Amino acid sequence: MPVAIIRPNCTSCEDCVDVCPTKSIFRGVDRFVIDTDSCHACGICAQVCPEDAIGMVATEGDKEASPEKPAPEKGAGRPRKSQ
Ligand code: SF4
Ligand code: SF4
Repeated sequence: MPVAIIRPNCTSCEDCVDVCPTKSIFRGVDRFVIDTDSCHACGICAQVCPEDAIGMVATEGDKEASPEKPAPEKGAGRPRKSQ
């Protein structure tokens, strides 16, 4: 699952803090930061940011589930029951 990250152009306006349903956005040293462990990638913060300072990035788990390795189809490989 991707997570949200805040870029250096954040102006610390705090608009994103109030809308985050998991309270994952905190004031950092020079800009706001996101706790990627609790962020569930809803994207609401990115929608409200007036500076376009929030982006969604892939995590290691996303690479494992990439299209190069598609999950097997449901029921694939199972013998069919004859009636
Ligand atoms: S993507 Fe959703 S959960 Fe993650 S920081 Fe933004 S508002 Fe919060
Ligand atoms: S809404 Fe955007 S500019 Fe405002 S604090 Fe959040 S990331 Fe920074």
